[in-house]
Amino acid sequence: KFRLDNRVAIVTGSASGLGKEMARGLAEAGAHIVVADINLEAAARFAEELMGQGVNALAVQVDVTDEEQIDRMVEKVMAQYGQIDVLINNAGIGARIEIEHMSYQDWQRVMDVNMNSVFLVSKAVGKVMIGQRRGSIINISSISGIIANVPQKHTAYNASKAGVIMITKSMALEWAEYNIRINTIAPGYMKTEMTASDFNENKDSHMVKTWLQMTPMHRPGTPDELQGIALFLASDASSYATGGVFTMDGGYTI
Ligand code: NAD
Repeated sequence: KFRLDNRVAIVTGSASGLGKEMARGLAEAGAHIVVADINLEAAARFAEELMGQGVNALAVQVDVTDEEQIDRMVEKVMAQYGQIDVLINNAGIGARIEIEHMSYQDWQRVMDVNMNSVFLVSKAVGKVMIGQRRGSIINISSISGIIANVPQKHTAYNASKAGVIMITKSMALEWAEYNIRINTIAPGYMKTEMTASDFNENKDSHMVKTWLQMTPMHRPGTPDELQGIALFLASDASSYATGGVFTMDGGYTI
């Protein structure tokens, strides 16, 4: 039930961080991987690495806020594989800017990359999945979309991630009749490029110390720690799960 042999999985933002490790996990279970990222060089490098390990992988450059580029990506994937079984909407950006210093343009970019992209990419891929009468979509939110997170208190990021949760629940309702399951993973504090400075030059900052102190397990998560939940939700192991929010946060939201 946990195997993904000959299934095709698109993982957005998988040239780095959480997306990369989730893609690796799906590949280990037998999936073909579409490394979809705005950074083509890094995506191509990762796809090559996967192919070196015998995985069928395809790198595609896509800005998840651009409907035309998304449509082209879907066409490319369909031309190569003829099906799309799994979509992980993972691409995202951090935004630690206080409201009083944030321009509307900055606000919109955060909403576009983190939240509106989930609508755009799911819509394009969903049309294929509706035709197939099957599919699993996994949206990456954050604990900051569930609770107003004291150390990570920035409004735009947190609102965008809360939006992802309601998009997930509503889409799950809309598409249940097509056998498309849609779930959210809400990771806690994870060690990636996005948070790299927190574990280097800012490791002694009040924010980082508070965050780790407030995490019952007192450590950040590592990207490979999302592999199990991503594989569970992508595969038939979770065949009755839809609209769910799965935290992976060292106990932070308890
Ligand atoms: P990361 O910066 O390591 O990776 C993000 C990837 O997304 C990069 O490869 C980047 O090139 C790509 N990307 C950015 N904008 C894009 C766009 N417009 N179109 C296509 N690709 C784009 O970050 P990460 O920490 O791995 O974060 C992945 C996801 O997990 C994000 O949605 C983030 O909000 C979420 N998240 C991260 C943490 C954490 O602590 N790191 C916690 C909770 C949720």
